[in-house]
Amino acid sequence: MDLQSDVPRPHCGEPWLLTPGPLSTALETKQAMLRDWGSWDGDFRAMTAEMCRRLLALAGDTEGAFACVPMQGSGSFAVEAMLGTLVPRDGKVLVLANGAYGQRAVETLRYLGRAHVVIDKGDYLPPRGTEVAAALEADAAITHVVAIHCETSSGILNPIEEIAETVAAHGRKLLIDSMSAFGALPLEVGAVPFEALVSSANKCIEGVPGFGFVIARKATLEAAAGNSHSLALDLHAQWRHMEKTGQWRYTPPTHVVAAFLMALDIHAAEGGVAARGARYRDNRDVMVAGMRALGFETLLADRWLSPIIVTFFNPADPAFDFDRFYDLMKARGFIIYPGKLTVVDSFRIGCIGRMDAAVMRGVVDAAAQALREMGVQDAAPPALALAERARLAA
Ligand SMILES: *Cc1c(COP(=O)(O)O)cnc(C)c1O
Repeated sequence: MDLQSDVPRPHCGEPWLLTPGPLSTALETKQAMLRDWGSWDGDFRAMTAEMCRRLLALAGDTEGAFACVPMQGSGSFAVEAMLGTLVPRDGKVLVLANGAYGQRAVETLRYLGRAHVVIDKGDYLPPRGTEVAAALEADAAITHVVAIHCETSSGILNPIEEIAETVAAHGRKLLIDSMSAFGALPLEVGAVPFEALVSSANKCIEGVPGFGFVIARKATLEAAAGNSHSLALDLHAQWRHMEKTGQWRYTPPTHVVAAFLMALDIHAAEGGVAARGARYRDNRDVMVAGMRALGFETLLADRWLSPIIVTFFNPADPAFDFDRFYDLMKARGFIIYPGKLTVVDSFRIGCIGRMDAAVMRGVVDAAAQALREMGVQDAAPPALALAERARLAA
C-alpha cells in the first residue's frame, strides 16, 4: 500500500480520520472527482450500471436474484428507504438493538408507523440466535427482522450468521444494516440468507459520503410497489426508474459515484473483501496491542471486537481529560472519536480507511505522548468500567 509510513500524515497534510466514516480516502479517489458529469449522459449511466454490477458481485449474487439500488443521501437515508419500502404497511418488525444504530432503526420505524418490537441488549451485548428464536416463536405477527452487522457505536461485531440462520429457520425476512461492515467482512447471499442489506459509499469501500445502496432480492423489490410513505425514499420507484432509464430518479451525486468507482478499483486491486478485512484486522491488532501496553482497556472482549472500530474506556486517572486528549491527538495528526456508552466514559478509534499498521503505530505513539503531556500516570479504567465488562463476559 502506498502510504507515507514514516510521516504519519495522509496527503495534503490533513489529519488521519480514525472515525467510522467519512474516513481517510486514497488520493486517487479524491482526484476522481475533478470533473463534471451530466446525470442524463450515457457516460454517467454506464458508471451507475458498472457500480451496481460490482456491488452485486461483492455480495456474491451469481444468479442475478438480487438488485442493487443506490439512494442519495447518507446511510440513514438508505436505511429509511429500505425499511419504508420493503416492510409492508401491515408488516411487523423485530429490531435487534445493541447501540445507537439499532436505536435509529427503531426510531425510523416509529416515524414510518410500522409495527415493531425490540430486543434491546443495551450498549454492547450481542443479540443471540436463541433469544431471536424465542421472540419469533412468541409472536407470529413478526414478518421482518432488522439486524445491525457491526454496531459502530460500540464496535461490536454481531453474530450475523447465527441470526440469519435463526430468522430463515423461522420463515421470516432479514434486513441487515451492514453499513460499517460490507466490503470488509464477508456477507454473501449464498452463505448468509437475507432479504436485503444496506451500506453506504463512505465506509469500508473507502469512498466519499453522498449515497447509500440497498442490495435486495428482486422478488422483494417487485412486491414492494406502493409500500413507501415517501416519494424521494421510495426504493421500488428508484429501482424501476433505473431499470427503465439507467438514471437515478433525482439529481445523483455524480462526483461521489465517480470517486466510488475509483474506490472499488482500489478495493479490487487490494484483493477484495478478504484483503480489505485482513488489513483492517491488522490495523486493529496493532492498535489494540499498543493501547493495551499503555494501560488502556477495551470495552469488549477479543471475541466481539470488530476490525472496524474499537471502544476504549477513559482512564480513571484524574489528570485525564478527553477533550484535551482529543486536541493532543489532533495536533499529532489523528482525529479520534468520542464514545457513545451510557454507563461509563469512553472513546473510540477507527481501523477503517486508507491506512495501515504503520499509521496505527503512529496513533499509539501519539496516545503515549498525549498521556505524558497531560500527566496521566496510568491509563487503567475505573473499577466501574471493569465491572461492566465482567457483566458482558458473564
Ligand atoms: C454509519 C452507519 C449508519 C448510517 O449513518 P449515516 O450517518 O446516516 O451515514 C447506519 N448504520 C451503521 C451501523 C453505521 O455505521
